Amino acid sequence: MLKKVGFALLYGVFIALVVAALWRWQANGWGTFVWIATMFAIMFIRAPHQKVYDRNETVEKQSAQTEKFLLVMVSLGMGNLPLIHLATGLLGFADYTLPHWATAIGAVLTVSGLYLFWRSHADLGRNWSPTTEIHSEQKLITEGIYRSIRHPMYTSLWLLTVAQPLVIHNWLMGFSGPLAFGILYFVRVPYEEGMMRKQFGTDYDDYCAATGRLIPRLG
Ligand code: SAH
Repeated sequence: MLKKVGFALLYGVFIALVVAALWRWQANGWGTFVWIATMFAIMFIRAPHQKVYDRNETVEKQSAQTEKFLLVMVSLGMGNLPLIHLATGLLGFADYTLPHWATAIGAVLTVSGLYLFWRSHADLGRNWSPTTEIHSEQKLITEGIYRSIRHPMYTSLWLLTVAQPLVIHNWLMGFSGPLAFGILYFVRVPYEEGMMRKQFGTDYDDYCAATGRLIPRLG
């Protein structure tokens, strides 16, 4: 019961912040619309996969503390803190201005990022997990977008976070996204690749030889 009330309260605060951010769009520029639409798109793309993931039985995973730290940091840097700033103007002293074309480049990067985000979830299917882990029926996916790139979901998050300072014109809240995601990326990838190698052996070595980490391997 208490948990339900807590959730309802948090949800109410979230909606209030979204409404306030939209209301204040002129103070932050039209990039606000791009950023808020992106936040909802991410939630909608992820929701059905989260349900499937909840049914998986994990057999190996990175330390829960490390994962919690990384996920909280990324959700603060990419989501919660920018939203609070857009809604309240709290960090307005660190605002900068950009021409419309720069915001438009941010929007194009965002749309490409969202496409890749959706595509990589669709191709990974049941093998997706929000943390770095292997579950009992894990398969090695080497088709679809994974045929040429090993970490397309991380490519998508790089695109979204590189776009962040182009759509949110603030030195602190524009760059908190790429900074937080950058830390997650460099901590996770070595662990994730090591874990996949342990699980799939030479199949994973062959897969690595045929793919690029973030962009397709040339030649
Ligand atoms: N790094 C990938 C996947 C992110 S989701 C990307 O950026 O697209 C993280 C989980 O995906 C990991 O815990 C791992 O279990 C799983 N995973 C990563 N690559 C995979 C692959 N090629 N096939 C199956 N599962 C994979």
